[in-house]
Parts: sequence; C-alpha cells; structure tokens
Amino acid sequence: GRGIFNIGKAQITKMDKNAKDKVFFKDVAGCDEAKQEIMEFVHFLKNSKKYEELGAKIPKGALLVGPPGTGKTLLAKATAGESGVPFLSMSGSDFMEMIVGVGPSRVRSLFQEARQCAPSIVFIDEIDAIGRERGRGGFSGGNDERESTLNQLLVEMDGFGTTSGVVVLAGTNRPDILDRALLRPGRFDRQITIDKPDIKGRDQIFQIYLKKLKLDNEPSYYSQPLAALTPGFAGADIANVCNEAALIAARNESAAITMEHFEAAIDRVIGGLEKKNKVISKLERRTVAYHESGRSVAGRVSNHSRDPLLKVSIVPRGNAALGFAQYAPNENLLMTKEQLFDVTCMTLGGRAAEQVLLGKISTGAQNDLEKVTKMTYAQIAVYGFSDKVGLLSLPRRDDAFEMTKPYSNKTGAIIDGEVREWVGKAYERTVQLIEEHKEHVAQIAELLLEKEILHQEDLVRILGERPYKSG
Ligand code: ADP
Repeated sequence: GRGIFNIGKAQITKMDKNAKDKVFFKDVAGCDEAKQEIMEFVHFLKNSKKYEELGAKIPKGALLVGPPGTGKTLLAKATAGESGVPFLSMSGSDFMEMIVGVGPSRVRSLFQEARQCAPSIVFIDEIDAIGRERGRGGFSGGNDERESTLNQLLVEMDGFGTTSGVVVLAGTNRPDILDRALLRPGRFDRQITIDKPDIKGRDQIFQIYLKKLKLDNEPSYYSQPLAALTPGFAGADIANVCNEAALIAARNESAAITMEHFEAAIDRVIGGLEKKNKVISKLERRTVAYHESGRSVAGRVSNHSRDPLLKVSIVPRGNAALGFAQYAPNENLLMTKEQLFDVTCMTLGGRAAEQVLLGKISTGAQNDLEKVTKMTYAQIAVYGFSDKVGLLSLPRRDDAFEMTKPYSNKTGAIIDGEVREWVGKAYERTVQLIEEHKEHVAQIAELLLEKEILHQEDLVRILGERPYKSG
C-alpha cells in the first residue's frame, strides 16, 4: 500500500519488452511536429554510446508546453517506448507534501533511480508547481520548501553530465511563469509545443479510441463528423467522449454504440468544458474565423509589413485570444513610419473584417485595439513621428500612469488628438483594404471554418505569391 512515507514516490514504468502499458508514437495522434522534435532525444537514447564516443553534447531536457490533456505525458511516455528505456514520472505537486524537507529528498531519490537505470527518461508533470519564478506567488506559504525543491532540481540537472544518459522532460501550460534558471542551457533548453488538435488531429485521435469500441458501423464512418463536432477539445476530452458514449450505450442496453450515443456524450463533455470556458459556440467560431482572416489579408496586402504569415488558427487556446496568427519573427530592429502604419492596419484587420463582412462587431478586437493604441502612442510621443508633437521622446504610456506626467496638459491633449487621428486614418485604410479584398477574406474565413488551421501554402494558394518583397 501507499503508506505515508510512500506518497508521491516516483511512478516507474519500465519500458521493456514485457511492459503491458508500453506506449509508442503511433498511440499519440495529431501532433506530428512535436513528435519530430522529440525524435532527437529518441535517437540519442538509442545510441547513447555513439554520442559519448563522439564527445557530443546533447540537450539534457525539454519542456513540453501545452494545455492540459493534450498528450504531453503520453508523448513523454511514447518517447521512452520508442527508445526502449525506463520511464520515471512524478508530478510537480507530488514534491510538495506538507512535511518539510520531503521535496528535495524526493528529487534526489528520483534522479538517483534514473541514473541507476540509465539511459532513462524522467518526466516531471506540472513543473510550474515547483519551478515558479522565485519570489512569485507570495501569499501561498510554503515557499521555502518549494525553493529548496527547485534548487535541488537544478543541482541534479547540473550534476549529471551530458553523457549520463538521463533525459529530463517536463510538462507545463505556463512556461512564462517558470524560473529563468530552469531554462538556461544545459537544463530545459528546448521547448516543444503541443497545441490542441485541429480538425484533422481530432479525427486521428478519434480513430485511435473508436477502434477500441463496439460500434454499429465502421470507425471511419464516425471519426470525421465527430471531429467536426468537437472544436476546442483536447485529446483527453476526446478519450472522455468515447468512454461516455460507451457508458450511455450500456445504460440504454444497446448492442452497439451509435451516433446518437456519441452526440449525447459530446453534449455531456461540453457541459463540463463550458464551465471551464473551453469551448466556443458556432456563431463565435464564425466571428473568430472572419476576424483572423481579416487580419491575415490586411497583413498580406499592405506594402510594408514584412513578417511572413506562417499560420492562422481558430482552434481555441484556453482563456487567451480566441484565434491567432503566427508570424515569422521580425529580424529588423528598426522600423519605418510606413511599416508601422501597415502593422497597425494589419492589427485592425480583424475588426474591419467583422464590420465589413459580418455587419456587426464583437468584443474580440479588444486586444488588437490595445496594441494599436500603444503602438500609435509610441510613434507620436516616443519616436518623434508626429509633426504636431515634434521631436520629443516622452515616457511610454505604461509608465506615464505611475508618475506625474513630465509634460503639460496641453501637450497631453495634442498627443491624445494625434493618437485618435492616426488610428482613425489607419482604420479607414484598413476598411478600404478589406472592401477591396472582400472575396478573399470570405474565402479564407470559410476555409478556416472547415480546416481550423491554415498554413502559408494555403494562403498563397488563395492570395497568390506575396506582391511585395520584404523590407
Ligand atoms: P497532459 O499530460 O498534456 O495533461 P496526457 O498525456 O495526460 O495530457 O493526456 C491524457 C489522456 O488523454 C492520455 O492518456 C490519452 O488517453 C489522451 N490523449 C491526449 N492527447 C492525445 C493524443 N494526441 N493522442 C491520443 N490520445 C491522447
């Protein structure tokens, strides 16, 4: 049994040939990019002798970043399975028992064990429970215990040489709050993102779980429609739907599971998720699709914005933005007035598309407007782009609230007037751009509704090659 001194002991799954719960990449569906990135570790664990001989420094650990239930633990386990090495896992919160001093000693014994059976994989779930930036989350108490646990973890990670064959993986949804010491080279110096699955990913995950059920038709008959009914679901939610459907069928004394059972199961799971604000309605989905489409079109057709659009998505990502567009990082440090004008238009593209194509506007643009306001204020009051304000560089808006304004009310009024006028002009131009490319915006929005994620190639197919060279 799990006596008091055994609570929180590492769960060790030896991934040897006899292990029943062995997991492989084929058991993890719909996150191909993450699998590809983690292959590096598989190769190392399988050939650790070779790496050692060559004197190669291999990465010690990786953070698996993504919302709960997206398969981070499963992927870590599959990495062990593919590599044929033992898998030792523990949850961050398990280190935090009420008995002082237990945390650090648990970390020590976890790593001791991992070294003994190396090559091996250590997985720490919810690493934010111990890895939170020091000095944060002040009121919760027990901080000393957490800090000494974190310190022990850092010591262990530094302690074993790169050649000791222990790979440390950790899962979190909040990489932003982690102590920076954890992210230094030689610790968790890789980040692998696992997002919620898109419609194709959900289809693949459904296929895995449908295979295990007794259905009144072929699994392929169900997986696509079910994927379409479940935007915003993580892998764990899909597994949950399949199990609920089986339970409902059993209670109804059916011989096999039917579509009706699945629909009832989805409703039930959505009920649970709605409480956590994880799903969006059909209407919202449409608004988000038009919004994101407008942004990407406005960005593409303005002359000076340079960042190539990599990906547009309407897969909900928890409480943050409803949709998002991912751009290749901007490599230039300096930007011109013209470029900033185009970036502003791009940022306003979502709002303009809602107005032009849907005829009504939502609160979805708040974040965009905040960015635009800040960006425009900076151009006028910080970078000296406005003739009316002149070549002054005043404190940024964020700081201005903190102190007495170092300029007169009159200057303040001029700045406010300029910001309003500039944003107004940019919006006018954006609406014009969206009007001109209305068909494209609609086409992309509808494709987004169908596929949920569009890549650069899809956009090029619709919009043609980018007419303007970067720069
Ligand atoms: P996380 O660690 O990200 O919170 P888990 O790996 O614990 O999520 O996922 C919980 C369960 O959900 C898994 O055991 C598996 O049954 C299911 N699951 C989640 N993602 C996937 C996926 N991509 N493919 C197959 N099953 C998945």
